Amino acid sequence: MNQRQIRGKQIAEKQNQIIRIDKTHYKVNSQSRNKQHDVIALESGWSCSCEDRFFRKTCCKHIHAVEISLNFHQKVKDDVVISEVVIDCCKYCKSSNIVKRGIRKNKSDNIQVFCCKDCTRKFSINLGFEGMRATPDQITMAMNLYFNGESSRKVKQSLVLIGVKVSHITVQNWIKKYVSLMEKYLDKITPHVGEQWRTDELYLKIKGDKKYLFAMLDSETRFWLSQMVSEHKGNDDVSPMFTEAKKKAKKIPKTLISDGAANFHHAWKEQYKAKNFLHKETEHNRHIHLSGDMNNNQMESFNSNTLRVREKVVRGIKKDDSSIIKGMQIHHNFIRPHQGLDGDTPADRSGIKIQGDNKWKIIIQNATKSLDTYHEEEL
Ligand SMILES: [Zn+2]
Ligand SMILES: [Zn+2]
Repeated sequence: MNQRQIRGKQIAEKQNQIIRIDKTHYKVNSQSRNKQHDVIALESGWSCSCEDRFFRKTCCKHIHAVEISLNFHQKVKDDVVISEVVIDCCKYCKSSNIVKRGIRKNKSDNIQVFCCKDCTRKFSINLGFEGMRATPDQITMAMNLYFNGESSRKVKQSLVLIGVKVSHITVQNWIKKYVSLMEKYLDKITPHVGEQWRTDELYLKIKGDKKYLFAMLDSETRFWLSQMVSEHKGNDDVSPMFTEAKKKAKKIPKTLISDGAANFHHAWKEQYKAKNFLHKETEHNRHIHLSGDMNNNQMESFNSNTLRVREKVVRGIKKDDSSIIKGMQIHHNFIRPHQGLDGDTPADRSGIKIQGDNKWKIIIQNATKSLDTYHEEEL
């Protein structure tokens, strides 16, 4: 290692010295002055805005720092990118020798038709939405309205305005179908979450019965890791929620913040052992949170947005209907921009990028594609 590499390694090892703007652009703190250098990936390699790079044309310590940090992070943190599914092969013979051949119009939508040059067959693929009575945009709009807190009857009324006449039962069936599809796909992706998690709770009424919804969230990314619906607040066994969060994140946190109820303490000791500690959130702490520090925003984000909305949504669900709560979790993690995350989603902050404006649609299409491929391999 030369002198610059050693200095670069030192920068990479310090905290908060490198800020990732995107995959090709990093800001690295100057180690002597109060400014930052831009390290940018060009076709010819990395460039840096510092004098060392400019005058000596050498690989400066900032570039070394980014490279070292990237090598380190790539081992633990690889972004997952979920993007629009491109139709790239024939539906029948799987040849990639296909061309676009006009648009098929049906009652409500226009669908691209392809022609295969090898088997000469024409086909169209409405991935994930084949045979549905509404278009992908209409169905996903209905889901979005629902998870933003509208009842399925109100969603039905909104659909009428855009020319879609379906019953509120159909709306509920769409939600069940697509939440379960999305869940199967998204559950396989591991979010990169931080070292402090917190439990949160909501009082629910499901068909008139009092219930509690407990949730485990990561503080840094706000990723909602797991949940359980419980009859009682203080004494039900909550360890399944702890197990699930551990499984989902493939790690355990250094700290947990909870209200310190006995059953939580028990689950904590049993599931997460003594590698870390449980921080009991006292009434006093809760009070401080309300004065507006980061933890308060955290709680606000979950409590007043997700949960307030949830109280409205749960009215329509049956006792055993977990798809609604799963749908809220998907909405919270992957769809809804969070103010406290500068408009990002928890998924964005956990290394899961979903591209495009209609994230519901992108996830559904990718989920359908991944399940199809799976079945083909089975055969
Ligand atoms: Zn430099
Ligand atoms: Zn073909």
